[in-house]
Amino acid sequence: MILQGKTAIVTGSNSGIGLGVAEELARAGANIVLNSFTDRPEDHALAARIASNYGIKARYIAADMSKGAECRALVERAGGCDILVNNAGIQFVAPVEEFPTEKWDQIIAVNLSSAFHTSAAALPHMRARGWGRIVNIASAHGLTASPFKSAYIAAKHGIVGLSKTVALETAGQGITCNAICPGYVLTPLVEAQIPDQMKVHDMDRETVIREVMLQRQPSRQFATTEQIGGTTVFLCSPAADQITGTTISVDGGWTAL
Ligand code: NAD
Repeated sequence: MILQGKTAIVTGSNSGIGLGVAEELARAGANIVLNSFTDRPEDHALAARIASNYGIKARYIAADMSKGAECRALVERAGGCDILVNNAGIQFVAPVEEFPTEKWDQIIAVNLSSAFHTSAAALPHMRARGWGRIVNIASAHGLTASPFKSAYIAAKHGIVGLSKTVALETAGQGITCNAICPGYVLTPLVEAQIPDQMKVHDMDRETVIREVMLQRQPSRQFATTEQIGGTTVFLCSPAADQITGTTISVDGGWTAL
């Protein structure tokens, strides 16, 4: 149990990649703070399920990652953390000249500024403990672009830059900061797009996944939430003590093209 006794905050972790990362960290022995902006009984039940499945402590703290003060309050309410995974993220697709300003602001706030606020709040706790890991969930779109996703791509490139800066400011202090860049991962968000794509392209499920959704992913296979979680656990392991300020792609070869 390499992460026994460590506490991990995972933002945006009541579904998808965040939940997968939280489960892999729990499997490695870490205590978990789950988060999203909702505060429903099922959010707290999720924390109880993870605690009982993995024999660790888990709690759910509601906080809206589009608001800087709530990002900082999340870290303080958790009592600081050893591991911070900035995962909360949203998407909106439109050409630049039609992109609604409020959508731009919201995406930059949730996908980029939240990581600035949580990192700023978490770093004093990590410095006091002499150990810390910040893992930012960026994207293949943190390294490459696609049309119509200006805010998302700007935010994801931004979080790669933020990761490098935090790495330099913490180098040699037992703290590392890196970004994971997933390609397409089959989360509920992506699953929900499949029926529409089948209709639009008049293709069956397997064809639409292979030829449309995974067109830029040479493996033609989705990455899994468990693989993103496993990469996060690796970045928290002693083998990764000198890995800081870099990106790790989990994208089936997308960024090798
Ligand atoms: P998802 O919609 O399943 O999960 C997003 C999570 O963020 C949810 O838990 C949601 O509740 C939370 N969230 C959204 N707005 C929030 C807010 N204001 N405050 C707090 N929490 C909020 O999506 P996902 O696919 O699991 O994406 C997770 C992260 O991985 C995102 O940063 C996304 O950009 C990134 N990513 C996803 C893929 C993919 O193919 N699924 C690929 C690359 C990167």
